Amino acid sequence: MKLANRVSDIAESVTLEITSRAKKMAREGIDVVSFAAGEPDFDTPVHIKQAAIKAINEGFTKYTPSSGTQELRDAISSKFKKDNSINYAPSQIVVSNGAKHSLYNIFQAICQKGDEVIIPAPYWLSYPAMVKIAEAKAVFVETKQENKFKSTEKELSSKITKKTRCLVLNSPSNPTGSVYSLDELEMIARLAVKHDFFVISDEIYEKLIYGDVKHVSIASLNKDIYDRTITVNGVSKSYAMTGWRIGYAAGPSDIMKAIANVQSHATSNPSSISQKAALAALSGDQECIERMRREFENRRDMMVSRLNTMRKISCVKPDGAFYVMCNISKMGLGSVKMANRLLEEAKIAVIPCEPFGADDFIRLSFATGVESIKKGMDRLNDWLGENG
Ligand code: PMP
Repeated sequence: MKLANRVSDIAESVTLEITSRAKKMAREGIDVVSFAAGEPDFDTPVHIKQAAIKAINEGFTKYTPSSGTQELRDAISSKFKKDNSINYAPSQIVVSNGAKHSLYNIFQAICQKGDEVIIPAPYWLSYPAMVKIAEAKAVFVETKQENKFKSTEKELSSKITKKTRCLVLNSPSNPTGSVYSLDELEMIARLAVKHDFFVISDEIYEKLIYGDVKHVSIASLNKDIYDRTITVNGVSKSYAMTGWRIGYAAGPSDIMKAIANVQSHATSNPSSISQKAALAALSGDQECIERMRREFENRRDMMVSRLNTMRKISCVKPDGAFYVMCNISKMGLGSVKMANRLLEEAKIAVIPCEPFGADDFIRLSFATGVESIKKGMDRLNDWLGENG
């Protein structure tokens, strides 16, 4: 059947496909070690689950305002002030079904045919797909491993044209784990103001940051960049709440109003119960985040030190998120072939980075227990010893 051009070559997300293949093997009794996960392996903290149970028992099970309840938007507004030093009024905030939905809404609201969207590569694979659905054109900026996969001024400037509508900034980044410094953010802000384009700042991994690296929100830098930024965040990664589907965006009032209108016709409100849970997450004790963060940091250190003993692959220590980008260029296989062979021959699931715009890399997630990491690293080491 003839499909709309907008969607005709949008493929299933490779990350979801390989994760479900690994899960199927596990169900068949095969002992697969999965480094494919795009979500924390921790359970949602108890006080958050209790808030959802209370919401159900109290009958908070009806439509809410389409952009989210007032109390949740108030809590998000306070979070932005406290954690990010950004003033967003609750009316500038739209709560959606995950940050993915927030991002989708943003591209729909601000992009159209003829617009260009700058995306530093490697990138999270859903950005180009969303840009395409919005009928705009993704323009990729290659980054270098030695620069921790962060775009330099020169690299970015070379891609800016009159058609540039926005730039996607994802710090900490999936898949690279890179975190942009204050200086680097100031450089991006200067370019955005000078050339008058928007910055979509996806800060979903904000809380998962290691060592003495700091997260800075670009919208907090000055009024000019505040007026050109839409900040995206959510509870999925920080509070181990991926299944609850709550994300949010905040930005200039006119854009947020348009997004609210689109959402009001597309999905209406995100789940009322999940909104209560997100409220408990944002306004409750934040110690649960720190517990998970510390555990992620230990696992990162362990995985990176093991990987760096393996001669045929290399990696940069990520400063944030829960992924390690592993350079496999010496293998000469390409990432999809390597990922398929690792799954079939070594029973390790990894994500090939070809769909992330980086075919010389595979992505390993450390959102899995220490024992699995040890076992998987042993298997990888043995497989590399036998292959190549
Ligand atoms: N942005 C990035 C960079 C992500 O990795 C993800 C999840 N994989 C999201 C946004 C979406 O998160 P969610 O929809 O669960 O809030």
